[in-house]
Amino acid sequence: MNGKIVVIGGGIAGVQAAASLADKWEVSLVLGEDYLPYYRMRIEEIISGSSPESLYMHPAVWYEEKGIKLYRSPASSIDRENHSVALEDGTKLQYDKLIIATGSSAVVFPLEGERSKAVFSLRTADDAIAIKNALSDSSTMAVIGGGLLGLELACSVAEHFHIPVSVIESSEYILPRQLDRASSMLLQGSLKKRGVEVHAAVSAVRADCHTLYLSDGTAVPADVLCFSVGVRPAVSLAASAFLEVGKGILVDDHLRSSDPDIYAIGDAAEMDGRLFGLALHAREMGSKAAAIINGDDSPYVPSDSSAILKVGGIDVVSLGQMTDDAAVVFDSDSSRFTVFCENGIVKGAVMINSKQLMASARKAIGSPFDAAMFKEKR
Ligand SMILES: Cc1cc2nc3c(=O)[nH]c(=O)nc-3n(C[C@H](O)[C@H](O)[C@H](O)COP(=O)(O)OP(=O)(O)OC[C@H]3O[C@@H](n4cnc5c(N)ncnc54)[C@H](O)[C@@H]3O)c2cc1C
Repeated sequence: MNGKIVVIGGGIAGVQAAASLADKWEVSLVLGEDYLPYYRMRIEEIISGSSPESLYMHPAVWYEEKGIKLYRSPASSIDRENHSVALEDGTKLQYDKLIIATGSSAVVFPLEGERSKAVFSLRTADDAIAIKNALSDSSTMAVIGGGLLGLELACSVAEHFHIPVSVIESSEYILPRQLDRASSMLLQGSLKKRGVEVHAAVSAVRADCHTLYLSDGTAVPADVLCFSVGVRPAVSLAASAFLEVGKGILVDDHLRSSDPDIYAIGDAAEMDGRLFGLALHAREMGSKAAAIINGDDSPYVPSDSSAILKVGGIDVVSLGQMTDDAAVVFDSDSSRFTVFCENGIVKGAVMINSKQLMASARKAIGSPFDAAMFKEKR
């Protein structure tokens, strides 16, 4: 064995790093939650009845077989001088290399009004259990934030609990980074048919026990209220060890923090002013940090993060870049395919229920626009 590696955080990034290092290093994986590592992207399934255990990435025996030692107590401090990590239960772990993969936490902001109960966010398995319990005797829900996660949550609750769900979005329309306005409006109409009412271009200002009040004066029923307005990287452990932090833990293109023996990966890391926030990058960074520790000298280059989603059963794909020059190749009550160009060259595409055109659209990016390329696949 080459030496000791401690990985703090058992999310996708941490588990990927630990698994990739276990054959050459003595690896300790420090867990911050009461569960074995699970697929965070699937925690909505807990709201609709699954157990946290059903989302586990691997059974306990998998870690044993790999030689990864699990510690079920959060890390409380890092002693850089002595190369050690202290856990809340008093355990001390020595390291030669340390990987911080502490993820992020949901942003929640205070609202005016008297509401003190039934305000949630969805980030952990325990959050999902709390939302599920609250929904069991509630008849309405409001979600603040119409991003991907908020919409997924709203659709899933509307479908499984058969209650009306409102989504509050401060932008002019939902998913402004992924969709053009017309595609977004089509999606919004489809969501309404599924029991999800979107209130766009407004913000939540006040809440009482059963109602949320919006900036335009609308009162929205909200027995259960859930924030879905983004995440904040978990940097406190790194900051208290005097590692450089910005919004996330600052790393170079080799995922190294300001201490050359400490790496930061996944949602917790900030590279070139960029935060990641996607499972795809968390997994990539886990593998790449392991490769770098094992001697790979090439930098981490994040993959393209095209959005390929399913929102309430509706396929949504957003590739490349949106521009002002939009060519609508087809448009119906339930599907739409738009190509975006610059000087006649295809730069991106947005697809609502037209995923079958994804390969053609990828191929078209960088070439002159020609609607015939997409015709036979409608
Ligand atoms: C409901 C939901 C749906 C999502 N859907 C998608 C999706 O469809 N596609 C996508 O790409 N991404 C999605 N994401 C985002 C994706 O889950 C994250 O980008 C990914 O989980 C980041 O992985 P990570 O390992 O960096 O951090 P995390 O998954 O947040 O894991 C970090 C872990 O570190 C632990 N930790 C923190 N502090 C300590 C400490 N001091 N000691 C020990 N442990 C600690 C935390 O408890 C946590 O378990 C979704 C997220 C949510 C919440």
